[in-house]
Amino acid sequence: MKLCTLYRDNGHEGVGLVTDHGVIDVAAASESSGIPAPITMLDVIQGGDLAIQQLQQIQKAATAAIDESVVRFAPVIPHPGKILCVGLNYRKHALESNMPIPSAPVYFAKFANSLAAHRESIQLPAVVEQCDYEVELVAVIGRKTRNVNPQQALASVFGYAVGNDLSARDLQFRSSQWLYGKAIDGFSPLGPYLVTADDIADPQDLPLKCWVNGELRQDSTTADMIFSVADVISDLSRIMTLEPGDVIYTGTPEGVAMGMAEKVWLRPGDEIVCEVGHLGRLQNRIV
Ligand code: ZN
Repeated sequence: MKLCTLYRDNGHEGVGLVTDHGVIDVAAASESSGIPAPITMLDVIQGGDLAIQQLQQIQKAATAAIDESVVRFAPVIPHPGKILCVGLNYRKHALESNMPIPSAPVYFAKFANSLAAHRESIQLPAVVEQCDYEVELVAVIGRKTRNVNPQQALASVFGYAVGNDLSARDLQFRSSQWLYGKAIDGFSPLGPYLVTADDIADPQDLPLKCWVNGELRQDSTTADMIFSVADVISDLSRIMTLEPGDVIYTGTPEGVAMGMAEKVWLRPGDEIVCEVGHLGRLQNRIV
C-alpha cells in the first residue's frame, strides 16, 4: 500500500491513499462513505491490520481522487518521536569521503524542525556555504521495539520512504559532532510516499538515484550498505526503545558533491530529485 500525508483543504494534515488514479483524501472519503478510518499517519501505523483493512475499504468506496500534481504534500511522518541517521553507511561513499570503512555504525540525530515535504522549497541559511545532497532509504518503525535481533528486526518496520539528508559540510565538520551541519531547518525532506513493508521484498536490493538540475549525481544500490537496515534497527534497539513512527535515515551512497574532484555545492535555484526503488521521487528546490 502506498500512502502519503497531505494538507487537507482545512489546513489540517490528513492521510492520502496513493492510487493509479490519483490520491484519495482518506478523511473526506471516510466522511462521505461512513467507513471509519485512521485520521493521521501515526493512527495508520499504530492501527495494525484493522487500519489497513479500513483503508482498503475506503479505496474501494472512494468516488474522488486528487490529481497528484495539485496534492499539497506534508512530510510523510510529520511529527516523529525520533529521527535517527546513519553516517558513512555505504562502502563507496566512505571511500569518496576519505574516511575508513566504519567498524561500527556512525549514528547522529536530526529533529522534526529538519523535516520537509515533497516539493517544499528549502531555505539555505546564510551561514551555509557547502550544502550537499544525500539520497537515502528511510525506514519507519511500526511497533514498540526493544532488544530485537537482526533476524527479527525487519518485522518492526511499518514501511519505507525516500529521504534526502541535506548536509552543510562546512558546518558538519566544524567539530567532531555532525549535528550543526545536519539539524538545519528543512534539511530532511521525506516522502512523497510511505510504502508499506509488504511491498518491499528486500530493502537491501533497491536502486538509489539523485539528480541535481537533471544531472544524475548518485546512482547506486542499497546492496552497498555496510550495516543493513536489520542490523541498524537491532543495534539501536539494544540501547533505546524504538516507537511507532520513529524514522531512520540509513545512509547515502557515493556521488555526493563532497566526493567530487570539483565540488559543486547546492545553490539557491537548484532542484534536487531523489529516488529509491519504486518508493517515489522526492523533489525539492533550494531557495
Ligand atoms: Zn546521510
